[in-house]
Amino acid sequence: MATKPILPPAMLGILGGGQLGRMFAMAAKTMGYGVTVLDPDPAAPAAEIADIHLCKPYTDPEALAALARQCVAVTTEFENVNADSMRWLASQGVKVSPSGDSVAIAQDRMKEKNFIRDAGLATAPFLIIENSGDLEQDLSPYLPGILKTARNGYDGKGQVRIKNLEEARYALSELKHQPCVLEKMLPLKAEVSVIVARSAANEIACFPPAENIHTDGILDISIVPARISTEITEQARNMAIQLVEKLDYIGVIAVEFFVLEDDSLVINEMAPRPHNSGHYTLDATFSSQFEQQVRTMCGLYPGKPDLHTPVVMVNLLGDVWHDDGSEPNWEIMLTAPNTKLHLYGKKEARAGRKMGHYNVLASNVDAALEQALALKETL
Ligand code: ADP
Ligand code: MG
Repeated sequence: MATKPILPPAMLGILGGGQLGRMFAMAAKTMGYGVTVLDPDPAAPAAEIADIHLCKPYTDPEALAALARQCVAVTTEFENVNADSMRWLASQGVKVSPSGDSVAIAQDRMKEKNFIRDAGLATAPFLIIENSGDLEQDLSPYLPGILKTARNGYDGKGQVRIKNLEEARYALSELKHQPCVLEKMLPLKAEVSVIVARSAANEIACFPPAENIHTDGILDISIVPARISTEITEQARNMAIQLVEKLDYIGVIAVEFFVLEDDSLVINEMAPRPHNSGHYTLDATFSSQFEQQVRTMCGLYPGKPDLHTPVVMVNLLGDVWHDDGSEPNWEIMLTAPNTKLHLYGKKEARAGRKMGHYNVLASNVDAALEQALALKETL
């Protein structure tokens, strides 16, 4: 039975008020919804857009109770939120998407890898390392490899590359003996990601794959359409949709893939939320990934995901700010008629901190990429 959609000016809630929460709030406000954000940081980027900022920890019972009272539906902008907080909100009659169960899988690499494998989808060969005893077996199928903490890793943090048992033992102690996944290093031809929006009624909108280039473990550039064959493009979309259906996922999810030297695809990881590699959708598709988040949590049909034009997105990290903290010179970028600058309103620029991004639209990705790189030099 179809349930009634949630319509404006209903109040929507979000756990987390970083840049993803900010762009969610902007999409929701554009559509006429109210927004309440829960984030312990008084300077949370989403706070200046939201109607209400609950400046409390994510597990604060009073803040969660306030969210449950005020909001018809709640979502999240990051996976390290407490899945039990989300389950509790759902128990109070709030529409919670994604579900606490989906978040619990995505926030734990061990559960995530097992889930992907059990869904019949390819992953890199991996071994669960719950304690140092698990290293005392034949590791050769996983070497050279990467030891990744099961929880709280992001932007390449919580990972150590290893070549042998000795290095594995050392890496595990460096990672404070947290539960880990040991994954074989694969020869990568490219990395792509697919962002999917799915409503409770199983209406699915899948954005075109982005080709992602990382620098020092942090996403640097996304190129769309990805420079991969139509077969691989189709395969990535199909695998992402299969995963979403297996999870019975409601909301927006990003699925990261490795394209291997032999053109096969493996799933690397998933993020139960909009993703940095989907920021191109703010300017190059009809509905952005943030609008899809609003639509899916409200029981509306996801908007059309088709690409209007080739696009290159470049992240702006704190590194491009001047040493005295002053802003780069945005003038040339802002006078380019095919480029859009998005800044997140963060007051303090630090190396590696995501401060903003820009999208360059052009008739082909080569032209967009060339211009995008040239624009970075003008800052
Ligand atoms: P994070 O949560 O930090 O994004 P990832 O698991 O996506 O962690 O790893 C970060 C990056 O490290 C990947 O985007 C990829 O470039 C590289 N990487 C991770 N796992 C492998 C692997 N098994 N083989 C080759 N490269 C990998
Ligand atoms: Mg990743």
